[in-house]
Amino acid sequence: LDANIRKLDAHLARFRTDGIRNLIGGASVPSASGATFETRSPVDESPICTVARSGPEDVDTAAEAAKTGFPAWRDMPAPERKQILHRIADLIVERAEEIALCECWDTGQALRFMSKAALRGAENFRFFADRAPAARDGQNLPSRTLMNVTTRVPIGPVGVITPWNTPFMLSTWKIAPALAAGCTVVHKPAEFSPLTARILAEIAHEAGLPDGVWNLVNGFGEDAGKRLTEHPDIKAIAFVGESRTGSMIMKQGADTLKRVHFELGGKNPVVVFDDADLDRALDAVIFMIYSLNGERCTSSSRLLIQDSVADAFLARLTDRVNRIRVGHPLDPETEIGPLIHQVHFDKVTSFFETAREEGAIIAAGGTRVGDKGWFVRPTLFTNATNGMTIAQEEIFGPVLTAIRFQNEDEALKLANDSRYGLTGYVWTNDLTRALRFTEALEAGMIWVNSENVRHLPTPFGGVKASGIGRDGGDWSFEFYMEQKHIGFAT
Ligand code: NAD
Repeated sequence: LDANIRKLDAHLARFRTDGIRNLIGGASVPSASGATFETRSPVDESPICTVARSGPEDVDTAAEAAKTGFPAWRDMPAPERKQILHRIADLIVERAEEIALCECWDTGQALRFMSKAALRGAENFRFFADRAPAARDGQNLPSRTLMNVTTRVPIGPVGVITPWNTPFMLSTWKIAPALAAGCTVVHKPAEFSPLTARILAEIAHEAGLPDGVWNLVNGFGEDAGKRLTEHPDIKAIAFVGESRTGSMIMKQGADTLKRVHFELGGKNPVVVFDDADLDRALDAVIFMIYSLNGERCTSSSRLLIQDSVADAFLARLTDRVNRIRVGHPLDPETEIGPLIHQVHFDKVTSFFETAREEGAIIAAGGTRVGDKGWFVRPTLFTNATNGMTIAQEEIFGPVLTAIRFQNEDEALKLANDSRYGLTGYVWTNDLTRALRFTEALEAGMIWVNSENVRHLPTPFGGVKASGIGRDGGDWSFEFYMEQKHIGFAT
């Protein structure tokens, strides 16, 4: 831990001196008004550094830079774009430790889960870099009188708006395909964790990305974010965040007919049937809610457990949850670090009282840890029903709500009784049941007998209030590009 803190201090020194500035048209600049805000670590509430607090005029300058940079980037031969994107990945790998340490200090995520985040970010760049040369490939669809040719072109400058929970990985996940498609980008990272977005933009600059192709504008959602979604030169918004922010963005973008792609919240069920491999299911249930502080859109925050095995399963689960290590995020032993900030801490802990009021049992956790920083004990609610607030609202912390079911029909009804539909996890050794159940389960992504394992060519996204559109594979290019049809008379 001490060695990690020393390394972190060295990395933070320059931020402490200079603060986090915007990066617009290749230049590192303060906000036009000179306004800043302070970012603090959730570990001990200490200030990390100041951050440019951008207003509409900064977004306008960034959008102008993205517009100016667009034609040359669009027209750069794809193998050259591919090479630059690979260079970005190389530099991410070189700075992986710095990225992980800064991200943990900024977000409170534990290093043991975050140490791979930078490498996953690099993989996102490599995956889309390799696909850049074929991104524009079209088809010939001849008719009797026409040679019909389709092609794909990048949509133009796009806005990317990301949340605070895993900021580095999510930024790469959104920006890499945009650049591979030939779009230019204005990125507005979350105000609560701005460190690694700045490092990432610097890396891109160093890798030789032309000026104006990637612009970073820091600030709050209600001013910088809002302006980005309203800007006429920004052709699309890729947004990751809360469902209600998605609704706001849709309204804000209506006047300029913005294309939107939303990755939103979830209240994802993990359904454990009595015929499942219960040891493996138990490990996965724990991993999918208590890793990454439960601040994870794909977390399995609702456990649906078959009554016949519930007593034994919940007893083992409670015992394991009580042994999860809460501590300093840079301690390699730590499994759960502090929640991102006080407002979120207040929200998460308010559900402890809600659970009691609703008649659930707090089988584990339900308390704060220490009196400094935003640490909570990993929490398990039992004796819950699906109509309770704790089963319906996205808590977005290390808090699991367990609900019993009698049979498959009831399990399906409970699983689908949610406004969200991001992921679902099903544990059963009955293949026919798995096929039947997954067919009827309302979720964009489902894993059977597995935790969430991301495979980049597969579609990522949710249904209902969990999102609009898909990322991954060619789906990312579908969003960042326009189909074009040309018919030649024959
Ligand atoms: P949030 O919606 O509060 O903020 C996300 C981003 O939107 C921030 O950068 C914020 O500044 C910006 N923003 C806020 N108001 C805006 C506005 N009016 N116009 C434009 N931009 C605005 O979300 P959060 O609290 O940062 O993140 C947590 C949420 O993100 C959770 O609901 C979680 O499930 C979701 N999430 C979803 C996925 C996914 O892939 N589905 C992944 C990670 C997180």
